Amino acid sequence: MGKNLNDIRADFPILDQQVNDEPLVYLDNAATTQKPKAVVEALTHYYYNDNANVHRGVHTLAERATEKFEAAREKVRAFINARSTKEVLFTRGTTTSLNWIAASYGEANITAGDEIVISYMEHHSNLVPWQQLAIRKQATLKYIKMNADGTLDMADAQQQITDKTKIVAIAQVSNVLGVVNPIKELAKIAHQHGAVMVADGAQSLPNMPVDVQDLDCDFLAFSGHKMLGPTGIGGLYAKETLLNEMPPIEFGGEMIDFVNLFDSSWSQLPWKFEAGTPDISGAIGLGAAIDYLNQFGMAAVHEHEQKLVDYVLPKLLAIDGLTVYGPHDPAKHTGVIAFNLDGLHPHDLATGLDMEGVAVRAGHHCAQPLMKYLQVPATARASFYIYNTKADADRLVDAIVATKEFFKNGTV
Ligand code: PMP
Repeated sequence: MGKNLNDIRADFPILDQQVNDEPLVYLDNAATTQKPKAVVEALTHYYYNDNANVHRGVHTLAERATEKFEAAREKVRAFINARSTKEVLFTRGTTTSLNWIAASYGEANITAGDEIVISYMEHHSNLVPWQQLAIRKQATLKYIKMNADGTLDMADAQQQITDKTKIVAIAQVSNVLGVVNPIKELAKIAHQHGAVMVADGAQSLPNMPVDVQDLDCDFLAFSGHKMLGPTGIGGLYAKETLLNEMPPIEFGGEMIDFVNLFDSSWSQLPWKFEAGTPDISGAIGLGAAIDYLNQFGMAAVHEHEQKLVDYVLPKLLAIDGLTVYGPHDPAKHTGVIAFNLDGLHPHDLATGLDMEGVAVRAGHHCAQPLMKYLQVPATARASFYIYNTKADADRLVDAIVATKEFFKNGTV
């Protein structure tokens, strides 16, 4: 189907460089992905040929910019199978999208005594907005537990979600454990209790097929930069019926219909929520990223990552003193693997790997409650993406072993 995933590295010029005298192996994709030439070229083409403000002008450039901006919205719609572009809002990314839900839907619908249900594995972006909303509204924030292998405890989900629950907000994929959570099943439980289902898609949209109609989630948040797109652009999907009821969050140009001295009316969806000049080039770049991913299809992207995880997990588990967090079953994974090496702080491990040219992340990964739950201060995290290879996986394993030896000898 289309282009071969094993032959795309030339599309990513950044990968072809030396770091600390070693060829770069980029395994920090859960933080942000690299950008193919097609995305960078879409940005330069826009600025060299089409740049103008959208929606307001009648001149040719303004019409062209508007057309391209709205075409990008249609690409997002098709990518997630939303019913209509009215349901696709451009935002700065997942964090903004989740804050918008809390600020608009949350402010309008949550009252004292209501419950908001999240899980222990949430990114701070899908935790702090709900925590603060709960504080403001005197609502109760509840956490779904995890099983020993890091998967979500669905029996506990059944317990935590009750008739008092108004919002269930869960990551479709954990940015630390790589585990895929059953959003469709959670949405069913949420709806049985009259609650809405919010899916944090920051780590799922880049890595697997996502169909909002099949999931029947009410909201889905995502970031363009984690799926080959530029930074500063992302999206919020929400069901049209909900968006019609929700008040705008920001006010100003673009989102109004009529402005009178003492009142105003709002533009139709989706523009009602998009106040001010949007990130036009960012949206166009995101559209180009979606085109790029569609060459392979998201099922092929997911399969590529699972093959790499399948290949590297046994090698990692065979390293004496290395602990892998989350499921050891590749079928339950995207390309994210969190680990620690006995006796070594993850920052030292990541620095050691960087000396070998291997880029991984170390820290709490914006998931401090999860670190507490796992009883670790931090972890290292390798995250694979479409341009990574088995050779990259081998370099990771070799670099961990070399770092382990270095610190063992260094401390003797
Ligand atoms: N949720 C998850 C699961 C994430 O991985 C991230 C990014 N690390 C976010 C939310 C926040 O995304 P952004 O910083 O792009 O807004």
